[in-house]
Amino acid sequence: MDSCDVLIVGGGPAGSSCAWQLRRHGLDVMVMDRTEFPRDKVCAGWITPAVIDSLQLDVVDYARQHVLQPITAFRTGLIDGGSVKVGYRSAVSYGIRRYELDNYLLNRSQARLRTGQALKSLKRSGGSWIVNDAISAPLVIGAGGHFCPVARFMGAKLGADDHAIAAKEIEFEMSPLQSDTCRVSGDTPELYFCRDLKGYGWCFRKGNYLNIGLGREGGHGLSDHLEHFCDFLAQKGRIPIHMPHRFHGHAYLLYGHAERKRIDDGLLLIGDAAGLACPQSGEGIRPAVESALMAADAILSAGKDYRAERLLPYAQQLTQRFGKGKPAVTGPVHHAVSRVLLNSAWFTRHVVLDRWFLHAHQKALLPDRVWV
Ligand SMILES: Cc1cc2nc3c(=O)[nH]c(=O)nc-3n(C[C@H](O)[C@H](O)[C@H](O)COP(=O)(O)OP(=O)(O)OC[C@H]3O[C@@H](n4cnc5c(N)ncnc54)[C@H](O)[C@@H]3O)c2cc1C
Repeated sequence: MDSCDVLIVGGGPAGSSCAWQLRRHGLDVMVMDRTEFPRDKVCAGWITPAVIDSLQLDVVDYARQHVLQPITAFRTGLIDGGSVKVGYRSAVSYGIRRYELDNYLLNRSQARLRTGQALKSLKRSGGSWIVNDAISAPLVIGAGGHFCPVARFMGAKLGADDHAIAAKEIEFEMSPLQSDTCRVSGDTPELYFCRDLKGYGWCFRKGNYLNIGLGREGGHGLSDHLEHFCDFLAQKGRIPIHMPHRFHGHAYLLYGHAERKRIDDGLLLIGDAAGLACPQSGEGIRPAVESALMAADAILSAGKDYRAERLLPYAQQLTQRFGKGKPAVTGPVHHAVSRVLLNSAWFTRHVVLDRWFLHAHQKALLPDRVWV
């Protein structure tokens, strides 16, 4: 039987960030992931500067060997409608490829890696957990994304949640011909909202890679909405000719739209497993990284006593950072007003982009200063 101080299930941004922080403080950490890395992850691959700060990512060094597309403007509008371009003086966000970033972060964490191994069983024995009858650990962290098996063990009803966001995307490297005919500029991602404002589509160029997708609340009719969006982009001449058509889908929860139990004796959930994505934009990497750092702080303070009451500061920090978690008020009037406002350059810049998408009002959470 192998053993460690903390076993993390899932090596995405949540799992690798938590492992990184715990390793920096000397804990013996193991990360188990069902896939081998590098691996693709369904995602647009857009990260805000707060993520760069929280991860203490050296952008110059990272960009030497990976795609890191600075973003200095956005084009936004309604599907089938006009659009507004909003520019900034410097980079306000970055485009990355999850295939690269997740692998980089996992290797940087210096945790012991068990990739290509799925969590199959979780049993309590004395004060420890026994995973797959092979690894013993007093604390198991669920970082396995929306369908995390640790979340299921803690009572989450996976796949039965109408409040989840369902999204599909495709990312591909453009041929010289596709590149020549793609009118989307790397520094200006394009975001187009659905007419009922229950979701939006994006078209995002990162270096020579193009990422196109659409996400919606509940996901009903997602494929039809996506097809309609792609037709709209094609009609506007935004996307290249002869594009691949194999879109990949995934689901995840927005913070406040459904509650998951996040701590229990010797168990803790972070990232998508805990249902933390930003309700307005669907951004999930920032909450994944921030929850990982907050969890690491609570774990280090718990002094190896991982009963639920000792992990409670983590739940308190989540509330302090992300709010009490009540769903935003929506309805016909709200939607009608928002549709009109989306045509306004002022509303787009100050509310949609600065507040909802960039969180310009909120300071980054730094690894050793997580209380906000
Ligand atoms: C189409 C789409 C576009 C998105 N675009 C953006 C974006 O541009 N920016 C943004 O910030 N967020 C975006 N998100 C959300 C973002 O991808 C997630 O919120 C983020 O990946 C959460 O990170 P995580 O580490 O919690 O989980 P994940 O990244 O999902 O990682 C979970 C890991 O757990 C592993 N795992 C799962 N089950 C098991 C098991 N049984 N045993 C072992 N390992 C397991 C998986 O293999 C995976 O590696 C998007 C989501 C979708 C669906």
